[in-house]
Amino acid sequence: MEGLSLVLASANPDKAAEIAEILGSVPGLELHPRPSSVPDVDEDGDTLVANARLKAVALVEATGMAAVADDTGLEVEALGGAPGVYSARFAGEDASYADNVAKLLDELDRVGAHAPGQRRATFRTVALVAYPDGSELWAEGAVGGVITGEPAGEAGFGYDPVFAPDGEGGRTFAQLGTEQKHRISHRGRAFRALAGRLTEGANS
Ligand code: IMP
Repeated sequence: MEGLSLVLASANPDKAAEIAEILGSVPGLELHPRPSSVPDVDEDGDTLVANARLKAVALVEATGMAAVADDTGLEVEALGGAPGVYSARFAGEDASYADNVAKLLDELDRVGAHAPGQRRATFRTVALVAYPDGSELWAEGAVGGVITGEPAGEAGFGYDPVFAPDGEGGRTFAQLGTEQKHRISHRGRAFRALAGRLTEGANS
């Protein structure tokens, strides 16, 4: 691949570090932090791809450079796939992580989903690069697991304390710690897939 400079749309330092680490494996790729002068966009798309595109295109328009963004949703089977694309504001526009987690546990109680088998969920991330010529490239990553009965663990953010990924003995992402989480997570998988496609030089 020829040298490619990408601006990173996420200002969240945890996410930025993880993304920088994964995309660091792409030869010739230079990653630039989000300029603080660029305002946040309204993430009002109907899909993860639409929201990732909104975030990336806003950066392309502000900087004239190619940009990379991601959007994540937690899809809970017993709730018909909710909160999905609305994961950030499940408990309201200015909801905190704790508000969203409390609402999720309440909703599962409300629908009578108490046994682990009734609490299946999927974390899904879309990672997308938008180019100044209007083209784009994206990849998806997902991980299945169970919503626990109560929060456990201190690491991570968001729904991490109540999401126990498959194959980890019932421990939540917040109990696994960041490194192990990144190895198996939705975001890790999405960005590794995107890194692979960037390396191949695929484009749309
Ligand atoms: P966004 O794509 O970063 O806007 O994520 C939407 C919402 O999903 C966030 O507000 C978080 O609550 C949640 N979320 C995103 N990624 C993760 C994760 O890796 N673990 C737990 N929660 C996450």
